[in-house]
Amino acid sequence: MTDRPTRPNDPGTKSDDATIRLRDLLTETQHDGGVLDRIFRQVHESVLDQSPYLNDNSNFTKIGTNDLARMFDLYDSLLLNGKIRTAVEAQGSKLEFALSRRLTRSGGQTKRTRPTKSQAFASARYEIAVSVPVLFATFSEVDRPIRACGRLCYNRLEALQRIMEHEMLHLAEMLGWDRSNCAARRFKALSLNIFGHTESHHQMITPQERAIVHFGVKPGARVTFDWEGKQMFGVVNSIRRRVTVLVPSATGIPYSDGKRYEKFYVPVERLKPVNG
Ligand SMILES: [Zn+2]
Repeated sequence: MTDRPTRPNDPGTKSDDATIRLRDLLTETQHDGGVLDRIFRQVHESVLDQSPYLNDNSNFTKIGTNDLARMFDLYDSLLLNGKIRTAVEAQGSKLEFALSRRLTRSGGQTKRTRPTKSQAFASARYEIAVSVPVLFATFSEVDRPIRACGRLCYNRLEALQRIMEHEMLHLAEMLGWDRSNCAARRFKALSLNIFGHTESHHQMITPQERAIVHFGVKPGARVTFDWEGKQMFGVVNSIRRRVTVLVPSATGIPYSDGKRYEKFYVPVERLKPVNG
């Protein structure tokens, strides 16, 4: 123990010990398939049981950030003796959970925000975010098998579990080795040994796929929609959480094709493809 001011990465600090213990544990852990299946089910049932939002439904339509935090802590304690949480706390850092509307391609994201110079003694802040558009587009209208991290998922909560498992490993790697990369060998080995993942990516439904498969709306397609009682015609420019539609307009802004357009952000459900 030391009584001088320390920074998270000072040698010999509590944070350093926790980091080393986490790194060792991650490297040594190897869970067998039967144990993992049991723990995945246990986490699934506990989250369903304790959530005020999920309503005992694995294809829930509402979720809160507390559900993410609960799932994280269950996994951390059942698979890694709570050592990820311990390493975060030993750094004096905060771990937050978010439901992101902006993530539209990946299922989740883990971020570290380092303190700025003016906050010399503050610690890094970590955030695990889960994509709302991907989570809720998955197991909705588009009907196809969903694989995530190499496992077949049968409902939305299982898909969320795979996202959380993957993201918590990003966090653990950031804590243990400072950097994390799920395309790299170390991540792949750890995710196989700790979570039984055989792949680093997911094939969940993105809003793009939902728009194309279910609504027949794709970039370049001519579409129509109702705008304050008026029927508008335009062309799909891009698909994110909403679809960007360009409507020709004399008062719009000039685009590279030499024409002027006004831009509208339209929920995909409100669009109708125009044939021909
Ligand atoms: Zn990743």
